[in-house]
Amino acid sequence: EAKSSGRDGFKVFEQTRPEKSLNRLTLLEEMRTGIESGEFFLEYQPQYNLESGRIVGAEALVRWQHSALGRLMPAEFIALAEDSGLIVPLGRWVMHEACRQNKKWQDKGFAPISVGVNVSARQFRDTGLIADVSAALADAGLPAQFLELELTESLLIQNAEQAVKLMEGFRHIGVNLAIDDFGTGYSSLASLKSFPLTRLKIDRSFIRDLDFDESDRSIARAIISLGRELGLCVVAEGVETAKQQAFLASCQCEIVQGFHFGRPMSADKLGKLLAMTSMPLGARSG
Ligand code: C2E
Ligand code: MG
Ligand code: MG
Ligand code: MG
Repeated sequence: EAKSSGRDGFKVFEQTRPEKSLNRLTLLEEMRTGIESGEFFLEYQPQYNLESGRIVGAEALVRWQHSALGRLMPAEFIALAEDSGLIVPLGRWVMHEACRQNKKWQDKGFAPISVGVNVSARQFRDTGLIADVSAALADAGLPAQFLELELTESLLIQNAEQAVKLMEGFRHIGVNLAIDDFGTGYSSLASLKSFPLTRLKIDRSFIRDLDFDESDRSIARAIISLGRELGLCVVAEGVETAKQQAFLASCQCEIVQGFHFGRPMSADKLGKLLAMTSMPLGARSG
């Protein structure tokens, strides 16, 4: 059913923009082969505990090193992957790669961090997702508590009853669940109540103007205290300035992520940061 809506999508596209749709089909075919030939890679953006200043997590973000077009960002190919269904094999690769990399960091002796993986609606509705995630964890030898799935509100409200069941399944195997881009969807408060979440990521649209927008400050403060009272770990996304950081600290926001602390970076680079900052004090001096 989802497949046929993807095809309809192409038809409309073809009728109205012939050259573009040819590109789209070419890109689709290249994506299919690119997944197999290893053209996709992950960057990791560090997440810091505001109080300790330590890296406690990283979000895995996919990129495509296209042979002719160069490096493509998610905005340029995720929608196509979702429409075509290729997000399922691509997402499976992302899951395996992120788990494998996180275990690698643990094996180097760094203080363990949680790795966040974004999940699209199409993947979430795929009945094999729990099996895929379990396989990724088992193959990597990574304990489930160090993996977090990032789900969006729109994904959760599409079929709320089924979503709750799936989420309970993930919680049962020990995987953490974050609601991503929180506050941009339609049923924010209802979702917090009915879904077995562990974490709430405040959308960066509420963070962006914190330095000068009094209502955004009120909204951010309210979301942070709501999350805390519901027992969720709260993450602020898109933190770009020291002033935003100071405000979030004053609200006791637990975790921050954003360009102010670090851009998405290669696994090697994050490994170097982990080596410098995540070792216990005693171990650092040797
Ligand atoms: P997201 O999950 O909300 O990820 C955060 C995005 O915000 C990333 O963009 C990140 O680079 C960007 N960002 C982080 N800090 C800042 C900041 O301080 N300022 C600004 N302006 N931006 C910041 P990116 O990597 O381009 O990813 C965009 C979106 O693509 C993600 O949004 C996510 O929805 C999707 N995506 C990325 N990787 C995957 C994946 O593996 N699977 C799926 N299904 N979706 C993915
Ligand atoms: Mg995300
Ligand atoms: Mg987000
Ligand atoms: Mg987003």
